[in-house]
Amino acid sequence: MIKIVPLSSKNNVKGKTKITLNNIEIGGNRLTIIAGPCSVESREQIIDIAKYIKKTGGSVLRGGAFKPRTSPYSFRGLGRVALEYLLEAKKLTELPVVSEIMNTNELEYMYDYVDIFQVGSRNMYNYDLLEALGAQNKPVLLKRGLCASVEEFLLAAEYILLRGNNNVILCERGIRTFETSTRNTLDIGSIPVLKEKTHLPIIVDPSHAAGNKNYVISLTLAAIAAGADGIMLEVHNNPEKALSDGEQSLDYNMFENLIIKINETFRNIII
Ligand code: PEP
Ligand code: MN
Repeated sequence: MIKIVPLSSKNNVKGKTKITLNNIEIGGNRLTIIAGPCSVESREQIIDIAKYIKKTGGSVLRGGAFKPRTSPYSFRGLGRVALEYLLEAKKLTELPVVSEIMNTNELEYMYDYVDIFQVGSRNMYNYDLLEALGAQNKPVLLKRGLCASVEEFLLAAEYILLRGNNNVILCERGIRTFETSTRNTLDIGSIPVLKEKTHLPIIVDPSHAAGNKNYVISLTLAAIAAGADGIMLEVHNNPEKALSDGEQSLDYNMFENLIIKINETFRNIII
């Protein structure tokens, strides 16, 4: 029987995969900071946040246009108009943009607006979507499914790689366990496991893991210590008024303090 060596396996390529976007490199020697609101709420909001993130040391802007929400009565994103605002924020700041794609129908339209396609946790098992993203050439940030094992996570990445797109970024965002004191349980252990198994860059999202801004700083530092190539943080100009995930969003002060803390702890690791 022929033994299949997965495309995500370290045995398949020399060195680590590095994803280059303008002047940033994800998976290189420096830590990538992806930051921004959970959802794009208005033109003013995303531009203000983007400028702040740029000034403070972030390297990629995040912002949801299409939001997968547990309740259909929650804010589900502004849709296509949010992509226009993201593009404007990108032009003003030169920050590359990552935004979530929920289904293949939006791929062609979104292609001109985003630099990285995000696949949310709920869609990690959407193999049609993964294959469609594998057949285009922009990087894909693939979030771990909320109940997915590391093996299933890597096999989901395989669907993208198999179609020819090598620019896959893995994102650990916590998994569902019996524990309810945090929104999800951040699986810090998956970071060294993934680093051993794969050449793909690993980003950690402590915001969706914690569900509470007070835990985000500790989880960020833990993720970096465990070897993450980057961090994805929810940051909002007015978290109390946020239309989604305000409880876990850092305000400007907290974001700034976190950047200082990262640099103090890990000695100028940020791009
Ligand atoms: C998000 O990053 O906006 C998000 C919805 O996260 P997740 O898919 O990890 O729940
Ligand atoms: Mn969110």
